[in-house]
Amino acid sequence: MLKNQRSVDAYKESVDLMPGGVNSPVRAFKSVGMDPIYMDHGKGSTIYDIDGNEYIDYVLSWGPLILGHADQRVVSKLKEVAEKGTSFGAPTLLENELAEHVINRVPSIEMVRMVNSGTEATMSALRLARGYTGKNKILKFEGNYHGHGDSLLIKAGSGVATLGLPDSPGVPESVAQHTITVPYNDLESVRYAFEQFGDDIAAVIVEPVSGNMGVVPPSTEFLPSLREITKEYQSLLIFDEVMTGFRVGYHCAQGHFDVTPDLTCLGKVIGGGLPVGAYGGKREIMERIAPVGDIYQAGTLSGNPLAMTAGLETLKAMEPSEYEGINKKVDRLVEGYQQASEKYNIPIQINRACSMVGIFFADEPVINYETAAKSDTEKFASYYRSMAEEGVFLPPSQFEGLFLSTSHTDEDIDSTITAVEKAFAKLNQQ
Ligand code: PMP
Repeated sequence: MLKNQRSVDAYKESVDLMPGGVNSPVRAFKSVGMDPIYMDHGKGSTIYDIDGNEYIDYVLSWGPLILGHADQRVVSKLKEVAEKGTSFGAPTLLENELAEHVINRVPSIEMVRMVNSGTEATMSALRLARGYTGKNKILKFEGNYHGHGDSLLIKAGSGVATLGLPDSPGVPESVAQHTITVPYNDLESVRYAFEQFGDDIAAVIVEPVSGNMGVVPPSTEFLPSLREITKEYQSLLIFDEVMTGFRVGYHCAQGHFDVTPDLTCLGKVIGGGLPVGAYGGKREIMERIAPVGDIYQAGTLSGNPLAMTAGLETLKAMEPSEYEGINKKVDRLVEGYQQASEKYNIPIQINRACSMVGIFFADEPVINYETAAKSDTEKFASYYRSMAEEGVFLPPSQFEGLFLSTSHTDEDIDSTITAVEKAFAKLNQQ
């Protein structure tokens, strides 16, 4: 059994202090039948809990830590910058530096605006798309998550191109009715939605690799066709690259798949573990943002020196060869899962886009939310608990992907595969 008394005690205290004891719902470990593990510190690929257990970390703060924990280049620069003050509410040179780096690397971005989270990036991009096109509706995909802005907290209605209904109490129906939700990878539904509502669709927003229903890559024709359809109807195409940005390749998912959207949202890796989001795109569109333009968006701490520094040092360290290095580790990990699945007769589906990996306890290929939802979540929970006991920290949900960093070693992969074998052997006995 995992020794976790301190975590158990901490959780008891937290539930009186914060809703569910946490500041973000996934941290409550609800779907895997465990109490949360309270973390103390991390170094490289390893994370240590407050009871002194150590784990190989495949959560990596839900994606941002592509260099692993407490990377020395990031930490020492942060210390240096913090000594000079943490925020000025006036421009700094660091903002220019990070903006230049982003513009050079992301094909669609000619101008960028920094914000503080992925949610802010997508909310702001939608406002810009609506303001720029003068249209009201947004098309999104079932199972894609774009943060918790009202327009985006809409799951699928059944059928094709249905008007959304509020998925969370508190989202007014008058807002939800402007969000159309269709299945991921389903171009026929997209075309049908445009035939019905095309004149009023301001934008299609999409995760170019979906990472929020587990990992689901796009079919070959999906992204190029979205580009064509949006062009035809003069709607904007927004890639939500909060998760994929600077993770699925040096030039993000849009470089990897060679499809250039009008607007791009960024988060996670761009902040290297500090709160940063960003949105950017064509100059002509971005110049509608205040103060040059008339569409308002602002932020007291946006572009603050600490956040810019963590992002900049992280991005500078992520040379193209680093992506190749991580991908090789992922190749081995995926092969290990495959072999364990065959050896212990545990059917799984493995979806992968570079260093985003989705392991589904499912019999059929997972191509959208409907197929992802068929996964055996009880099997997942049992596997999850075994992996934690063996010292592997995974995202505590069947519907989240796991991430690797440049710090993961071959030994980490070997230990993880051994843990997978033990977990699958146990499942085989049940
Ligand atoms: N978009 C995507 C694709 C995400 O994965 C997330 C967060 N997981 C968000 C937006 C929201 O980002 P944040 O949690 O920083 O608000």
